[in-house]
Amino acid sequence: SYRKGGYHAVRIGDPFSGGRYIAQRKLGWGQFSTVWLAYDTLSSSYVALKIQKSAQQFAQAALHEIEFLSAAADGDLQNTKCVVRLIDHFKHAGPNGQHLCMVLEFLGDSLLRLIRYNRYKGLKMDKVREICRCVLTGLDYLHRELGMIHSDLKPENILLCSTIDPAKDPVRSGLTPLLEKPEGNANGGGGSSTMNLIEKKLKRRAKRAVAKISERRVSMVGGEASSNTERSLDGIDMRCKVVDFGNACWADKQFAEEIQTRQYRAPEVILKSRYSFSVDMWSFGCTAFELVTGDMLFAPKEGNGYGEDEDHLALMMELLGKMPRKIAIGGAKSKDYFDRHGDLKRIRRLKYWPLDRLLVDKYKLPEAEAKEFAEFLSPILEFAPEKRPTAQQCLEHPWMNVVSTQNNADNVESQMRNLHIKG
Ligand code: ADP
Ligand code: MG
Repeated sequence: SYRKGGYHAVRIGDPFSGGRYIAQRKLGWGQFSTVWLAYDTLSSSYVALKIQKSAQQFAQAALHEIEFLSAAADGDLQNTKCVVRLIDHFKHAGPNGQHLCMVLEFLGDSLLRLIRYNRYKGLKMDKVREICRCVLTGLDYLHRELGMIHSDLKPENILLCSTIDPAKDPVRSGLTPLLEKPEGNANGGGGSSTMNLIEKKLKRRAKRAVAKISERRVSMVGGEASSNTERSLDGIDMRCKVVDFGNACWADKQFAEEIQTRQYRAPEVILKSRYSFSVDMWSFGCTAFELVTGDMLFAPKEGNGYGEDEDHLALMMELLGKMPRKIAIGGAKSKDYFDRHGDLKRIRRLKYWPLDRLLVDKYKLPEAEAKEFAEFLSPILEFAPEKRPTAQQCLEHPWMNVVSTQNNADNVESQMRNLHIKG
């Protein structure tokens, strides 16, 4: 991918935009870009530099992203609406061509990394609530104030706000940078063998750093809690922002039929019916479930005699009940999957496992917690797009404002511990 039309190879210390930005280290990469930590000599602060591949279609995509990021920045002068801030953009000429570069505010790890860091065990409800509040704030802003659909909401496109000064800790920007394989799909994150070597070296360094940090946290918590890694997130602020506007569109000016990453794709998109803001709400619902359980809500697979789409629809119905016939047969692709009664053509016997039971039986949530969360999530996962609540309505839902008893118990427990230590 480091050839004509592809990624721009960056070395630490490389200057950009007439020397204003100095490359520090790689933060991540996607299908179309590599993202670097850079020092902004003008504002004396760290920024994220997203360097697009140079070929025409990638430049086009970057211009598209810049349009949406600029609109988002223009409407949010205080930078409080949980959307990543575009600071600057420019062109950079390199051996592989002209690369459009976006300068973004520097953020921390993605929620995908947070989930991995927590060993796919799921986060505590209060952490999930904090994250949901930010994501919903972002979506409400995009939808209601800007008329924009994000179209690719998922854990890897939601980044924690970094609380760590990269100057003090050049390895870590959050929990586990470079610990895992680069995010994105199989097309992204290829890289040359030199890149792989550097990546490996950084990975080892990051691993050591993370090991040290978790040791410290565990010893802070102490005793019986040491086997419970989820504890190590205590005290970490869960503010986050929505990123990656490469697939965003205006609700009244859509161009793509197939949007969203597979597992987060709404049923109306699979069936090629009309779609709107509520596709983001569906993806939000899938994301919230994943934060709670550590598992993807829907992970469809192609099977014997049926495709990924049909499996996906089956999984949805096993969780949410039968799709109303009108919706099932209402899309341009409906005939591929449903008969005229609204039953799947190739997958006949569905095993119904409703959300509240799933949360208790499989994920061992306490009954009351499962019930509250299922009541929040179920309307978001309505098959009928117009029945799904808006982001604004979700923010007003009682679940968003629950004072968790678990949290109170924890507080009491930690106060007791403090007393004990002081005593
Ligand atoms: P793509 O459109 O190519 O998927 P993204 O915008 O999703 O690119 O960025 C790719 C990766 O780079 C992200 O998953 C994240 O790890 C990192 N990244 C992106 N933006 C930032 C940022 N503002 N701060 C820190 N890291 C970032
Ligand atoms: Mg991305």
